[in-house]
Amino acid sequence: MINQRTKIKEKYKLKKTPEKGEGIFATEEIQENELVMLGVIEKSVNQNHSHASQVGEFKHVLHAGQISKVNHSCDPNCGIRVNDTGAHDFVARRTIDTDEEITFDYAMRNYSIDFFPTDCTCGASECRGSITGWKSLSEEIKESYSTFVAPYLLEMDSRVTTRVLSLQND
Ligand SMILES: [Zn+2]
Repeated sequence: MINQRTKIKEKYKLKKTPEKGEGIFATEEIQENELVMLGVIEKSVNQNHSHASQVGEFKHVLHAGQISKVNHSCDPNCGIRVNDTGAHDFVARRTIDTDEEITFDYAMRNYSIDFFPTDCTCGASECRGSITGWKSLSEEIKESYSTFVAPYLLEMDSRVTTRVLSLQND
């Protein structure tokens, strides 16, 4: 079976970096909103672990291919869109230059971060200092990421807000 969606041109490759180990780098310029990496689910896993992606409140999967090699940044050039298989596609949030590292924010897919060293070395001027999950982001960052995150995070937020409001009204 030929999947039409897999026919996107790959404009990235895996490279070793002195600072961060392996990373994914653009091999040519990528435009804003362009699909950069196609998400394919390899398998579901019972628990969160360091390479798992959270795709629901209690659901974690492993993505096939090189998506798990994409490093975190507190000022990422990519975000997440869920595709029709339920996997996470990586989409450019802005123009990405040739040789620029492809990055996303782990908070775009994980409500909390349990498996990474807390110190962040992404080097962005907006670096939060530690790798934190969605629940710890400021409202301002949540707003700027809102179209580029796993949708269940927004659902969890709205449930928390509803609960708080109903408590206040009691
Ligand atoms: Zn950072």
